[in-house]
Amino acid sequence: MEKLSIVVPCYNEEDNVIPFYHESKSFIEKMDIEVEYVFVDDGSRDQTLKVLRQLSNQQSNVRFISFSRNFGKEAGILAGLTYASGTAVILMDADLQHPPSLIPEMWKYYKEGYDQVIAKRNRKGENFTRRKISNLFYKLANKFVDEVEMIDGIGDFRLLSRPALDALLELKEYNRFSKGLFSWIGYSEKIIEFENVQRANGEGKWSFNGLLNYAIDGILSFNNRPLRIAIYGGLFITFFGFIYILMTLINYFINGIETPGYFTTISAIILLGGVQLTFLGIIGEYIGRIYYEAKKRPHYLIKEKSLEE
Ligand code: UDP
Ligand code: MG
Repeated sequence: MEKLSIVVPCYNEEDNVIPFYHESKSFIEKMDIEVEYVFVDDGSRDQTLKVLRQLSNQQSNVRFISFSRNFGKEAGILAGLTYASGTAVILMDADLQHPPSLIPEMWKYYKEGYDQVIAKRNRKGENFTRRKISNLFYKLANKFVDEVEMIDGIGDFRLLSRPALDALLELKEYNRFSKGLFSWIGYSEKIIEFENVQRANGEGKWSFNGLLNYAIDGILSFNNRPLRIAIYGGLFITFFGFIYILMTLINYFINGIETPGYFTTISAIILLGGVQLTFLGIIGEYIGRIYYEAKKRPHYLIKEKSLEE
């Protein structure tokens, strides 16, 4: 018997949960399949948890998990997917930016045999700089990243079959970058497109800083090429340093000591200092990641769960 789980991470979504539930339900009702909802309250500071408690009391197919604090969307996704019991899951945002009208279409392709049905958003109505920055990110990321390909507009909104889901849950890393993980597991993919929509209520949680960190995570999670650049860059600069010293020495033997090269000394210090700091930072990043992985802390802590029937 087929069963669809709808997994929804929620952080401060008190005004969105109920509209989301009703809107998605209106499409699901017509589909004649068994559906369960798994909402994950990611340590919301508003009434999200209360709304979820009520909803799951009223509706037997609504379950929820509530974290002890805000662990971030990646943790919410992981928890929701872990607790989903369906033969297929659809991962969606609570703010209706992932239109529930796509659910029947995703299901249709799932029934045709695709393991991942991916919804791709265009960037209509988004401001110019945000669009340009995203473009740049995807160009850079795909240059630097091995094994996986990231495509603009593709996020977490997707359907996963049980085999694809189980494969994903096998990846236990602490630093999770879902966009990359989804692509890493492979399986047959079908991409469908949808129009960009603005969020229904409340505010988006991405600051510029947040996005930058996300971008760095994406690049560092999937390869060690930045470390290689450090090595090559270091070798390159050392090589020229040698040539410089050699030339200065030859010059000294031919012409004797001239005015001490204040400018060159200082510029060398600054340049090398900068390069070294950058690469120390990159190396530090990787070591930081190892540190987190080594600690094997749980991805999230659950404070409350809906009663299982
Ligand atoms: N979210 C979450 N934990 C967080 C931040 C966001 O569970 O720390 C959820 C949020 O409630 C929403 C989804 O992740 O359902 C996407 O968040 P948002 O709309 O802020 O991001 P955007 O649409 O800008 O990608
Ligand atoms: Mg949103």
